[in-house]
Amino acid sequence: GLSIGIVGLPNVGKSTLFNALTKAQNAASANYPFCTIEPNKAVVPVPDERLGKLTELVKPQRVLHSTVDFVDIAGLVKGASKGEGLGNKFLANIRESNAILHVVRCFEDDDVVHVDGSVDPARDIDVIETELIMADVQSLENRVERMSKQLKGDKTLGPKLEMGRKMLAHLNELQPISSFPERDTTVARELIREMAMITAKNVIYCCNVDEDTLTEDNASVAAVRELAEQRGAEVLKINAKMEEDFVGLEESEIDEFLESYGVTESGLTKIIRRGFHSLGLISYFTAGVKEVRAWTIEDGFTGPQAAGVIHTDFERGFIRAEVIAYDDYVANGTEAACRAKGVLRVEGKDYVVKDGDVMHFLFNV
Ligand code: GDP
Repeated sequence: GLSIGIVGLPNVGKSTLFNALTKAQNAASANYPFCTIEPNKAVVPVPDERLGKLTELVKPQRVLHSTVDFVDIAGLVKGASKGEGLGNKFLANIRESNAILHVVRCFEDDDVVHVDGSVDPARDIDVIETELIMADVQSLENRVERMSKQLKGDKTLGPKLEMGRKMLAHLNELQPISSFPERDTTVARELIREMAMITAKNVIYCCNVDEDTLTEDNASVAAVRELAEQRGAEVLKINAKMEEDFVGLEESEIDEFLESYGVTESGLTKIIRRGFHSLGLISYFTAGVKEVRAWTIEDGFTGPQAAGVIHTDFERGFIRAEVIAYDDYVANGTEAACRAKGVLRVEGKDYVVKDGDVMHFLFNV
């Protein structure tokens, strides 16, 4: 599936955050026997109040959430793009990720050594992003060189080569591909996809702060927000240590803690929800007495594609789908009531599934 790579300098709290995500995975793993457990990957359920509501109405035997994959990419340091140490392996892992969660140290703690001697988020972000830009430069340089050789035999490569050169010039000004003006053209998109360019991926900046900074930003968080605004990126604020302690506690206990710090939603919940969204994913539901379940699809999937997530046979044999919008389902309480009210729609092969649709597929086997 699609995954989010967790990056950041050493000692900023990545492992602490990843441990919290892993604990959340393990707490839920009995319900997700189909998820294989890997040491550097956490497959975590996406919190979704709508599932709670559907469960109240349908009273199923079990409930399954959508999941999202986080990959721990530890060890990215200055010089990684030059292949120092294990640098290239980390960069390969980032290339395979579909979005990036960049953890930034915004807490002060004399007991935790900072690799560069002081807490300075803008500098830290710059160090990591420069490595990522240099990694894209290297792979694009190779590609451009190859294309310029192939051009003699294949003139159709011209536009792509020209675009590659423009992108290279942009990167060499230490700018990420996400700010490349022509990034949405067909040729640029093709290159970005083929090369799995790192700096084209969505980034979420995750400020790791202490408890007392959760409600009110400190100067470090403010600096990250300013930088993120220029990049059009999102910012989340969490206390990784606290999140690790939370996993496994009763929801009421967590709420009590959060309230005492003046916040309403746990940082882990925010990260999982925003992460899921940053991958361009949405959920549709199936609601039966055996199981109420959220299924993960890409925004834009059609009925047959959505059915294919349940089983490939469902996609091949798709005839039609019965669809109830989530709000209609909740307003009427049961499928039968929705049918009687006329809010159950019958949709064909071209229907684009909406977030929260309650679906029932009809198919040939
Ligand atoms: P990593 O190298 O980025 O994976 O960082 P770690 O997760 O190993 O954290 C480095 C150190 O910082 C550990 O001693 C953590 O306990 C500590 N740490 C992590 N998050 C916080 C935080 O929010 N506040 C404080 N004071 N310390 C933290």
